[in-house]
Amino acid sequence: MKYCSTRGSAPHIDFDDVLLTGLANDGGLYIPHKWPSFSESEINNMQGMTYGELATEIVQPFTEGSLIQEDLKKLILETYKSFSHSDVAPLRNIKKNIWIMELYHGPSLSFKDYALQVIGNIFESLLLKKNKTINIVGATSGDTGSAAISSCANRSGMNIFILHPEGRVSEVQRRQMTTVNSSNVFNIAIKGTFDDCQSLVKLMFKDENFRERINLSAVNSINWARILFQIVYYFYAVLSIGSQNKSVSFAVPTGNFGNVFAGYCSKKMGLPISKFYVGSNNNDILTRFFSSSSMVIKDVIPTISPAMDIQVSSNFERLLYDAYEGDYLQVNKLMRNFSNKKSFTVDPEVFKKIKLYFQGYKLNDEQTKFVMKRTFDESQYILDPHTAVGLGAIDNFSNILEDPLVVLSTAHPSKFPDAVKSAVGKEPSLPEPIKDLYNLKEEYTVLPNDLELVKNYIDSNANL
Ligand SMILES: *Cc1c(COP(=O)(O)O)cnc(C)c1O
Repeated sequence: MKYCSTRGSAPHIDFDDVLLTGLANDGGLYIPHKWPSFSESEINNMQGMTYGELATEIVQPFTEGSLIQEDLKKLILETYKSFSHSDVAPLRNIKKNIWIMELYHGPSLSFKDYALQVIGNIFESLLLKKNKTINIVGATSGDTGSAAISSCANRSGMNIFILHPEGRVSEVQRRQMTTVNSSNVFNIAIKGTFDDCQSLVKLMFKDENFRERINLSAVNSINWARILFQIVYYFYAVLSIGSQNKSVSFAVPTGNFGNVFAGYCSKKMGLPISKFYVGSNNNDILTRFFSSSSMVIKDVIPTISPAMDIQVSSNFERLLYDAYEGDYLQVNKLMRNFSNKKSFTVDPEVFKKIKLYFQGYKLNDEQTKFVMKRTFDESQYILDPHTAVGLGAIDNFSNILEDPLVVLSTAHPSKFPDAVKSAVGKEPSLPEPIKDLYNLKEEYTVLPNDLELVKNYIDSNANL
C-alpha cells in the first residue's frame, strides 16, 4: 500500500516510512492511495472476533509491503491483552438506542492509548529490523503526552521528549507523565502556554540539520498510523451492537478531528454509518464551519474539556482532500489561505457533500456539566467532560433516535476530578492503572520558552 500527501508534492511512500516520518515534507498529511473496503458479508463474518483479531483484519490491507507485516498480528494481540477490560472497548447501553463506548481501558485512560500503545510496539520492532534509533518529540496540553509516554517508556531504540506548559495541565495529567521513571522518558515543563510548546516542536521539525542529526520523529495525530488504529473501534462498536446491516450514527467529542476522521474512514470502508455528530466546547471552530462553510481561527479559550481546547483541527485537511476528490491544488489553496488569512471557505458543492455526513454542535462548560449531571441522575453513569460534550451534541437533533447511536467516551472521568466533582457532586475514584499516582516520585525539567536551550537539552539526552 502506498501513501500520498494531501498537498501532492511529497514522494509516495509505504506504511513503514509513513509511520516513522509522520508529516509529509510538503507540509501535507499522508493518506492511503487507495481505500480498501469490506463487503457486507465480509463485515458479517467479523462478528464474534476479539478486539485484537478485528484490529488485525482491518489494518492488514493498509500495511501491505511493510517490514512488520509478519509480526503484526502478534504485536496487535499482545498490545490489547494488556488493556484493563477483557472486551478492550466495551459498550454500555445507557438509554434506549444510545450506547457509550468506553475507550479508556488502556494504561493512560484515554482513547489515545488504542492507537499509541500498538504504535509503540510497532516502532520498537521496526527500529530493530532497520537497526535505527529515533528521538520522539511532542507537545501536549494533557492526554497525548501521557499516552505517548506510556507507549514508549522502557522500549529500546527510542527516547521520548514531551513538552508541556508548566502549571497548565491538570495534576493527574502531569503526574501520569512525570512519574513513569524510565531512562528513555524526558518531561520538559516549558515556561509558557501550550501554543509555545507546539511552536517549539514545529521549529525543531523545520530545522533540517537538527532533525537529521537526532532522527526526529512525531507521535501527534497527524501521523496516519494513529488514525488507522482508531478505525478499528468503529467496526468493533457497530459489530458489538449488531448494527452492521442497518444504519447507525456516532457522536464524537472533537479537537484535532483525528478521532472523527477515523470514523469517516470506517464509513468509506463499508460501515453503514449515516451521521457523525461532532461535539465541540467553546473552541467551536468546527461548529461554525458546519453552519457556514468557512473555517475561521479565533483565540483558544480554556475550558473544562482541555484536550479539545484547539483552534486548528489539523486532520480536517484529510477530509478536504477526500471531499475535493484528491484535487491537491485546491487543498494547497485552502491551506495557504488558512495560514495567511486565518480562514478559508470551501466551495458550495463540496460543503454540501461534507454536510451529508457531519453535524456540528457546541456546548459551553455549563451545558457540559448539565449533561454530566443529567446522565448521572438518569443512568448513574459518570461521564468525563469530553464525553459529555459528545453526548450533549445530539441533544439538538431530535430526529436521530431512529438510528442506534454510539457516543465515543474518550477519557476516564478520574482524569478530570475537579470538573466531575463540580458537575455531579462527587469525585470519581482512581482506577487500577493510576491508583498509586499521588505516591510516586515526579521527575521533570523546567526550561524557559527558548528554542536553543530546549534543543541543547534534547541534544544532550538524545538516543544516537
Ligand atoms: C485528544 C482528545 C480528544 C480530541 O480528539 P481529536 O482526535 O483531537 O479530535 C477528545 N477527548 C479527549 C479526552 C482527548 O484526550
